[in-house]
Parts: sequence; structure tokens; C-alpha cells
Amino acid sequence: VSADEAIWDDACALDLKHVFHSWQAQADRHPVEVTGGHGAWLQYADGREMLDFTSQQVNVNIGYQHPKVVEGIAKQAALLCTIGPDYANLARGRAASLVVRRAPEGFNKVFFTNAGADANENAIRAARLFTGRDKILSSYRSYHGNTGAAISATGDWRRKPNDYARGHVHFFTPYLYRSEFSATTQNEECERALAHLEHVIQFEGPDTIAAILLESVPGTAGIITPPKDYFKGVREITKKYGILMITDEVMTGFGRTGFWLALDDYGYTPDIISFAKGCNSGYVPAGGVMLSDPIAHYFDGVVFPGGLTYSGHPLAMGAIVAAQEAMEEEHIVDNAYNVGHDILGPKLSALSETHPKIGEVRGKGVFWAVEMVADRASREPLDGATMKQIVAEGAKLGLVLGVHDNRIHVTPPCVITLDEASDGVERLDKALTAAGC
Ligand code: PLP
Repeated sequence: VSADEAIWDDACALDLKHVFHSWQAQADRHPVEVTGGHGAWLQYADGREMLDFTSQQVNVNIGYQHPKVVEGIAKQAALLCTIGPDYANLARGRAASLVVRRAPEGFNKVFFTNAGADANENAIRAARLFTGRDKILSSYRSYHGNTGAAISATGDWRRKPNDYARGHVHFFTPYLYRSEFSATTQNEECERALAHLEHVIQFEGPDTIAAILLESVPGTAGIITPPKDYFKGVREITKKYGILMITDEVMTGFGRTGFWLALDDYGYTPDIISFAKGCNSGYVPAGGVMLSDPIAHYFDGVVFPGGLTYSGHPLAMGAIVAAQEAMEEEHIVDNAYNVGHDILGPKLSALSETHPKIGEVRGKGVFWAVEMVADRASREPLDGATMKQIVAEGAKLGLVLGVHDNRIHVTPPCVITLDEASDGVERLDKALTAAGC
């Protein structure tokens, strides 16, 4: 303590001195301290109340300091803080039951992990063991987590310095605004993307492919809502070639899109579903893999060669049980749907009328992207300095904005009220004007 005595009560100074941060060079940091929060609001240490349009890493679906989740964790902490994964534990069993309840029929088992990356890691492992095949196909526009196979499955820049896992192949998924297939309608985009996928499978060799791993709405890559029939098409192709389908619901799961799972809106059943963030809103880290019955049964007689010290950690499980129950009791998923349908959808789209640098607005529920362009005709992405300025102007107006490349990702907690969402869009409107957009 003595070396840091002078800064012992200064979170930002301690952060700058001792905390090593993700996805950034360490020198250029301007840390902000958050001392509290409630619902969709954050309390900054300098006294400001900020409306959060990010949900942090798009994970705080239930909002900050939900009393039922805080209580659920406290009760479990008083009972038993930790116990190894081998024991039966009531919170763990209940959490698994509540989570698979949201999957399509035919899912009954959950393998718990610490977060989303290791959920995908184990989903991939299960698919490879079940099929006896090696390759995993995933989208160029995707993020699946920061561990061996998950980062190699990822499609964005973060894969490049981390790409050491073998057996990963990428393909293009639908993105009409920047179509790889010269499509002009969603139907064309969908058909051509499916034809492209089938060609990739044929050229790679169908019997070398264990699974196709896809986010049901690519999130970090741009909240790119796929055409309605895309996943049904993917499902048909995978069945034709005996390939498994893994759906990554880590960011989209548990309310984000206005559905319990985003796949609910696409009407298909994958073989494996990975999840994390929204299952307990990150009050205690947790993730997992839902296994459909054939895959789960395969491992009845075959050892699953994977495990984690904290698989199904009781505090995380207590948080899942409380969060799932509160989300149901308080109709939080319906609220997310309504916020998207009544406020974010129409009001964000209306911003395009007065802000010429908005290229496209897309999304659903509390999961929206405002794609910014230098010029609508060329669709050239808006420069990073202006994107930073939008965030800074938002902050001056008490609005926390998340930006990825040339997009503003509007992803407030699912508990945000219609009035708060409307208020947030008004602040965004002003921030865009102040940034000259
Ligand atoms: N999958 C998706 C779709 C994600 O958005 C993320 C994180 O943003 C992950 C996986 C990785 O999750 P985690 O950061 O909890 O490991």
C-alpha cells in the first residue's frame, strides 16, 4: 500500500498506474470513474448522471443494480459462495433449467462457462467431437471472443494478430448496404449469400466441415440484421451436407433484440447455442453452451474433454436465476421490443432526414446501428475523428454512446423506458448537430 498511499483513494490514478486494458495501446487513456448506477443510468464520480446507450459491452440488459439480482447474489453468497462443478447445486440446476427454457424444443442441457469466448470455444469443441470433422465456417463480419478458436472464428481485425488456431474458414454473410453480391434487394442478397455459402462448402469439402458458427444478428460487426429467410436457408444447406449449426447468442440473447433469443425471430433450430452477457447481465461473469439432445446424448457415453474450475459458479448461477425470473416477471423482453418498435426504430430513422451523414439505420429491440458516411452517394465511411467527436458531444449532453468504426451502436439496457429512449435520441440528435453531421 505504501507505494500508492498518495493515490489510494483515486480510482483513475490507480487505473493509469496499475491496470492493463483490453484492445488498446495503454498510453492514450483518459479513464472515467463510475460510482453507481440504476436502470439505464450511470452515476459518474464527478456527479454527472449519464443515460447509457451502450449497456457497456452490450451486456447489462437488466440495467444497473437491479434489486432482485443484487439480492439473488447476496442470498447465494450467504449460503455457499463457491463449490466445484462436479457437485449438484440448486442455483446451477435452476439456472440451466431457466436458460434452456428459452431455446427451441429439443434443448435440455447446458455446459456453463465463464463468458462468451469460452462458450464458443466449447461449442466448437463439441461440434468437432460430435462430427469427427475439423473445419469451422464463420462470417467475415463477426466477433466470437478473445480465446484460441473463438478469435480465429472471428472475422474482424482482432483475428489477425491472434490467428493461431487451425481449421477456420470465413465467408460473407448478408449486408445489403455494402453488398458483396451486387444485390439491390434483401431477397437478392439472401439468395446470393446462400449460393455463396454453398459454393464455399463445396470448395472446402463438405465432409471436412464440422459446423457453421454465426451470430444471429452480427453485433460488433455492425448490428447487421439478416434477411428474414437467411437462417432457414443456412439450416437447409447444413442439413444437406451433415454440417452442424452453432448460433452465437452471446450478444443477442435474453432480450437484446426484443425476443428472448434473436433466433426466435428467424424460425429455425440450430444444433448448439452459445450465450453469456444477457443471461445475468454480467452481475457475475457467466456464459454457456446449450446442447441439443442428439449432441448432449452423444456425450452420455463419450468423455467431454473440456472443463473449467468455475463452470456453473454458484454466485453467477444465483445471478442467472434472479435475472431470468425478474426479466419474466417484469416483462423486460416485451419492453425491449416496444422500445425498438415505438421509439428507437422510428426516431432513429427520422434522424436521417436532418442529418445527411447518416447512411443507414437498422436494428430491432434495443439493438440498433446508425451507420455514418462521409457522403450518401459513395457510402464512404465517416472518418474516425468525427465519430470520436460525436461520442464527446454526446457525453457533454449526458449521453453515453458506443461507436464501432463508422457506426453508432444504440444498445441501451432492455429496461430503458419509452420516455428515456426518446430523451436519449433527442440528445443524440443534438450531438450529431454539434459534430457537424
Ligand atoms: N460472441 C459475441 C457475439 C460477442 O459479442 C462477444 C463479446 O462481445 C463474445 C462472443 C465474447 O464474449 P466474452 O467477451 O464474454 O468472452
